[in-house]
Amino acid sequence: MTSTPHHNEASPSLLEQHLALREDRCPMCGYNLHRLRGRVCPECGQALELRIALTEPRLGAFYTGLVGLAAGVGFAGLVFLWGLIVYLLHGGPELWQLTLLACEAVVLVNLLIVWIRCAGRIRRLGPGLRVLLAGATWCLSLSAMLLFGLLVRY
Ligand SMILES: [Zn+2]
Repeated sequence: MTSTPHHNEASPSLLEQHLALREDRCPMCGYNLHRLRGRVCPECGQALELRIALTEPRLGAFYTGLVGLAAGVGFAGLVFLWGLIVYLLHGGPELWQLTLLACEAVVLVNLLIVWIRCAGRIRRLGPGLRVLLAGATWCLSLSAMLLFGLLVRY
């Protein structure tokens, strides 16, 4: 959020010119900004700027995958902790099972980080590929739960 200092007080800024014609409301408090002078909302004091936004942000697949992977990370993390506690208290699951659960959690955490880092690239993919990838994250998380179901038989 860099400010653009290349306008002086004498000539109205693009923001002021825009609000001279429009009755836009402050995104923070809803105050009517029509004929605003300066770049601060007089009601809540938040600084304002004029910006370009996408009409269709194409974030659906990204958020679907984010939730899918986050659910898997949460599940795998909790299951690993559960396994660790049972292992320490009762000599519970075998060490290889515990290691497998830890690996699963680490893989999912890394995929989640990659997913967040690649947000822009995911947005630019074609619609089919975006949906496919988002679906794949859910399949991965569900397979983590399936693995747990196969590993623990009670
Ligand atoms: Zn405001």
